Amino acid sequence: MIFIFGTKPVLLNEITPKSIKCNFCESQGTVTLISRSSHTHLYYIPMFPLGIKISAYCHDCTYEANQNEFPQNYYSHIDLLKNDSKTPFWQFTGVAIIIIAIILGIGRSRYVENRDAAYIATPAIGDVYHYKTGYSQYSTMKVVSINYDSIFYIHNDMEADRYNMLSELNVEENYGDDIYYILNSELDSMQNANTLIDIIRAED
Ligand SMILES: [Zn+2]
Repeated sequence: MIFIFGTKPVLLNEITPKSIKCNFCESQGTVTLISRSSHTHLYYIPMFPLGIKISAYCHDCTYEANQNEFPQNYYSHIDLLKNDSKTPFWQFTGVAIIIIAIILGIGRSRYVENRDAAYIATPAIGDVYHYKTGYSQYSTMKVVSINYDSIFYIHNDMEADRYNMLSELNVEENYGDDIYYILNSELDSMQNANTLIDIIRAED
């Protein structure tokens, strides 16, 4: 996978004060002070801003001076320029996307947690439990009958090393004939320990 990553400066503002001289050719009133805000981008999507930089461009000799070459009398103009140069919000696009994704992720996982807790409290025949069998090992079990404080289930003989492969494992021939049971309270503990990852109900 190739990441297209880079930085890009964007022009914010410029002023051409009559009172300042070019460092190089000494022409007066020919220097434009320019403010630019750079941002990093990933696949050309602005990720986050890197700050505002000022440069000075002389229209007479085309010399472009950097911040460390500015004479003292540039600075009062630079202060004014900086006051009128704000980092545009769109340069925070990547930060915003990341924050929104985190908020949605937290919202989604809370939703799943609450829903699964309700499914454990009121189980239905056919519920498929996705759970961890070990480090990076996952499998499923399926509810076949319900008791007041426990469920009876059949057990998937197959395991996957990736959680998102579990729906492929959930086929009839992978389940054995032996019936096991587990207490609802044990399922609650599994959920709290993140061993029980998700519960799939047919009507969902
Ligand atoms: Zn010049």
